[in-house]
Amino acid sequence: MNSEQQTGLVFDVQRFSLDDGPGIRTIVFLKGCPLRCLWCHNPEGLCARPEILYTPDHCTGCGRCAAACDNGCHTIADGVHVFRRENCTACGKCADACLNEALRLAGRRRTVDDVLEEVLLDRPFYEQSGGGLTVSGGEPLLQADFAAALLRAAKESGLNTCVETSGFGSAEALDAVAAQTDLFLFDIKETDAQRHPGCTGVPLAPISANLKRLAERQKPVILRCPIIPGCNDRTDHFAAVAALANEMPNVREIHVEPYHPWGRDKYDQLDRAPGYDRATPPDKEVAEGWATAIRAATDKPVRLL
Ligand code: SF4
Ligand code: SF4
Repeated sequence: MNSEQQTGLVFDVQRFSLDDGPGIRTIVFLKGCPLRCLWCHNPEGLCARPEILYTPDHCTGCGRCAAACDNGCHTIADGVHVFRRENCTACGKCADACLNEALRLAGRRRTVDDVLEEVLLDRPFYEQSGGGLTVSGGEPLLQADFAAALLRAAKESGLNTCVETSGFGSAEALDAVAAQTDLFLFDIKETDAQRHPGCTGVPLAPISANLKRLAERQKPVILRCPIIPGCNDRTDHFAAVAALANEMPNVREIHVEPYHPWGRDKYDQLDRAPGYDRATPPDKEVAEGWATAIRAATDKPVRLL
C-alpha cells in the first residue's frame, strides 16, 4: 500500500484555526489517547474506536435512525426517541440518516489522500498567512504511521506542518512524526512526577524523555500549558515550566491555556461522566497572574491563550 492510501481514524477536521501554530491552519484530530486528563475537553477523542454522540435537544423523533440501524439501538415510543448503546457497532448509518445532527459519528477511517484533499481547500489562506496543517488528537503518536504519512504529504504540497502532542508515545513514533514536522505544540500538563499520574493517568518520565529527544534534534517546540485551578496552578509548577524553557534552546514560546469547561456537553452526548467538574474557569486577572509568574522566570515569550 502506498502511503497516500494509508488510513487513520479521524474524529474531526477544523478549518480556520488561529491558535494552533503559525497563520491560518486546518487541524486534523486523530482518535485515541492513552492519557486520561481530568479536565479533557475532547472526550470523543479518547477511545481508539468510533463512537456515536447523541444530542437529544436536536432530535425531532422522526425515526430515520431506527429505520437505518440493523441492531435495534434506536426506538421511537409515543414520538420519543430512545437510544441504547449496548449493541451499537458504531457503523455510523444512523448518524448519516439523521437530518438534524442529533447523532454524530466521532471516528471515521480516512485515507491520507482524502484528508489532504480537504486540508488543501484552504491553500490560499495558508499561503497568505504562513499557515498549514496541524495534526492533533487524541494523541497523534498513537497513529504515528498515518500521522507521518499525512504530514509528509502536506509538506510535499508545500504546507507548514505542526503536531499537537502530549508527548506520550514511543521514541520510534516520535521520530517518525518529527521527521515531517516543522513545529511541535508540546503539552506540559504537570511538572511534578509524583502528581502527574494522578491528573493524567500516565507517568511523566516517558514524556520528559521525548521532550529531551526533540531538544537533541533541535526541533522547534512551543510548550502548551493547560492550567487547571486546584490542580496545577502552583508557583512551583510555573517555575518548573520556565526552567524547562530555559534549558532547551529549541523552545520558542510558552502558551498558557486557562481551564475552560467547553467540552462538558460532549460527556453528556457520550453518556459518560466528566473527570473534573470541580474547577471553575479563572477570571482574566488570575490567568494573567499565571502568565506573569512564568514570565518572571524566563526570557522566552509567554502567551496567554
Ligand atoms: S434520526 Fe435524528 S432526529 Fe430523527 S429520531 Fe433519530 S436522532 Fe432523532
Ligand atoms: S452506529 Fe450503527 S449500530 Fe450504532 S446505533 Fe447507529 S446505526 Fe445502530
